Amino acid sequence: MELLHIILGVMLAALVAYAAYRAHTLNRSGALAAFILGAVVFGLGGLAWAVVLLTFFITSSGLSRFFKRRKEKVEDRFAKGGRRDAWQVAANGGVAGLAVLLHLVYPQSVIPWVMFASSFAAANADTWATELGVLNKTWPRKMTTWVPVPPGTSGGISLAGTLAAAGGSLLIALAAVMLWPDAGTGTGDRLIFGMIILAAGVGGNLVDSLLGATVQAIYWCPTCRKETEKSPMHSCGSQTKRIRGWKWMNNDAVNLACTLSAALLALLLSIVVV
Ligand SMILES: [Zn+2]
Repeated sequence: MELLHIILGVMLAALVAYAAYRAHTLNRSGALAAFILGAVVFGLGGLAWAVVLLTFFITSSGLSRFFKRRKEKVEDRFAKGGRRDAWQVAANGGVAGLAVLLHLVYPQSVIPWVMFASSFAAANADTWATELGVLNKTWPRKMTTWVPVPPGTSGGISLAGTLAAAGGSLLIALAAVMLWPDAGTGTGDRLIFGMIILAAGVGGNLVDSLLGATVQAIYWCPTCRKETEKSPMHSCGSQTKRIRGWKWMNNDAVNLACTLSAALLALLLSIVVV
């Protein structure tokens, strides 16, 4: 029975990774990484774990697709285009994969499940804020200085983006509460854990914005005369020059910090509150 479950999980992961590759959501390396992550989550976790991963993957890539035309203007501010590569998959889903392995070590604890859902709540909050934040009527403000910055600037926050982040986190928290894999957890405890997941997701997104406003590597294109996350070359073909931030703190490192901080915050809150 266990072996059948693993085989079905691996097959489902292959199917989803292939579909995402064909839909141009993932490139070749991204599809391979998504297959490995999916095999771990579907095969070693189970149905509830799979649905939470798919809720993140489908809503975030659906939003990206839906808003593609709208955000073409801000597209080149992001380091990469719409297709996710292996580093992006690892940055968004690596912590969740580790949480599944933690669940294998501590099968009687619900905390790995809460950490798993929290990392996806943060990744979802981040994606929703990025995609829906452009709907804000005014320019976002830099989180540290509160100075208005152009849409798409790292570390900029807005009302629409913050509401979108909360919505993205809430969706994952609701899915986690409804799909709860451990029958031994009562409704009251599930709701408390759901609030922890919601808070951890929003917290991770705040870490993301804070890093974007402070230490994330930001480059300057002398031809277009604007800031970009792209390196070593801008979309126009010009060489970009780092103007602030740590060189290694690229988009993927920021996303990893976002998901990891959410999982650790969830661990801390679970220990303190429950
Ligand atoms: Zn340029």
